[in-house]
Amino acid sequence: MNIRTKLTLLLLALSLFVISAAGFFTTLSVERSLRGRIVDELNTEAAQVGAQLRQSTTRDTTAFGFLREYEKAGRYRLTLIERDGRVIFDSDVPPDEIPGMENHAGRPEVAEALRGGTGVSTRHSATVGRDFMYLAIPLRPELDSSGTYGTAAILRVSIPLTEIDAAVGEIRRNIILVSLFVFVIVTVIVGLVSGRLARPLAQIAETAEKIRGGDLNRRIEVRSGDEIGRLGGTLNAMIDTLNRDIVRLRKLERVRTEFLGNVSHELRTPIFAIEGMLETLINGAIDDPSVNRDFLLRALKNTQNLDALLSDLIEISRIESGDMKMSFRYFDLRELVNQLIAEMAPIADRRKVSLTADMPPGPVQVYGDRDRLKQALVNLIDNAVKYNREGGWVTVRWKEDGPSGVVSVEDGGIGIPEELRDRIFERFFRADRERSREAGGTGLGLAIVKHIIEAHGTVVSVESTAGKGSTFRFTLNKIV
Ligand code: ADP
Repeated sequence: MNIRTKLTLLLLALSLFVISAAGFFTTLSVERSLRGRIVDELNTEAAQVGAQLRQSTTRDTTAFGFLREYEKAGRYRLTLIERDGRVIFDSDVPPDEIPGMENHAGRPEVAEALRGGTGVSTRHSATVGRDFMYLAIPLRPELDSSGTYGTAAILRVSIPLTEIDAAVGEIRRNIILVSLFVFVIVTVIVGLVSGRLARPLAQIAETAEKIRGGDLNRRIEVRSGDEIGRLGGTLNAMIDTLNRDIVRLRKLERVRTEFLGNVSHELRTPIFAIEGMLETLINGAIDDPSVNRDFLLRALKNTQNLDALLSDLIEISRIESGDMKMSFRYFDLRELVNQLIAEMAPIADRRKVSLTADMPPGPVQVYGDRDRLKQALVNLIDNAVKYNREGGWVTVRWKEDGPSGVVSVEDGGIGIPEELRDRIFERFFRADRERSREAGGTGLGLAIVKHIIEAHGTVVSVESTAGKGSTFRFTLNKIV
């Protein structure tokens, strides 16, 4: 069952309840007021007949004939009752049957009148076989003594309730008709209102189903600021997020595929080279002393390149998968730089490049991951030496700047053409392909540097003039 039907049924049940309750109570109050009016009428009637009786001068009960005439004209039943409860006249009973009538002293209205009050009672009359409303009044005692109207002590006026019942029935019928009419109108209104309320929900459900089916361009129309409108807005926002995530995931997927392609290509190059040299050796070169050693050395060089590549790959995948555990603490940068210069001096010597440090005389306490920063500096110094020229220079500098300082690795090397400068931090990107290969570069060095520096909450920048040299810089905090 959909919301609209549920809402309609609920509202209809509710209005049905309200309408029936209203009808019931209206009928009840109408019936009560009718009865009240009849009691009033009976009262008036009793007073009038009582007054007439007082004027009568005979003691003869047959003289009550005027009462009989009176009753014929009116619609009331009149009864006269003695103090002892004996009925002496009843307009609905023939005179010869009167003596046989039951004693009426026990009738509630008569009992009340005998006590001096006005008794009212509604019940089934055993005597005439219909529902009656009775009203009995005492005819004052002094009348009894003057004897003007016989010995009757109580006058009872009654009326059959068929009239009231008919009137109430009529009203009830009218109320039912009006209720039906109202109910039809309410049904129409309820149908419209619940349709209006349920439509946006139905729309949201429909759109959500379309979206589940993969149609992510669908949006829910938000028309109101109520909960339904908010739900629509939230769903739209969710779809937007989903779309962005999907775009991001697709891009990631593309990058990953591209990376895999690059890796395969990078691996294949040294492996092919090794394979070629081994084959050449096997095919006879092994016995040629002028080349055999050279081939073996070159094969060895390629396995070393392969090893470097695999190390960098492992490193970068660890970093990018978020497995890089950083361990931050204070350490002496000056001590680290001096140690690196000493370690890398042989490589620089081999390439006839001078490698120096420009550090303050005392310790330089900085905050960072010493091992990671060491690796970044190794990569930067290694590049500065690699992409240099004979007789060139490399300097590692620290320039203090308030609570932080700038580390720079500067060289007077070949520089980087401007148009390639933005791309050198990409994985496997090489500005100088030949030289990189020849020097055993993996193309991953700067990508690793970038990750490490970014993990320190800062960035690495490059400044370079083609043919003149390059400077790589990053900031480190002294105090955190
Ligand atoms: P590689 O293993 O090829 O050195 P890197 O990621 O370390 O890879 O560097 C990417 C490219 O950036 C290098 O191939 C090189 O062309 C260029 N490059 C890096 N450092 C320098 C530098 N100091 N001077 C000139 N070119 C550089």
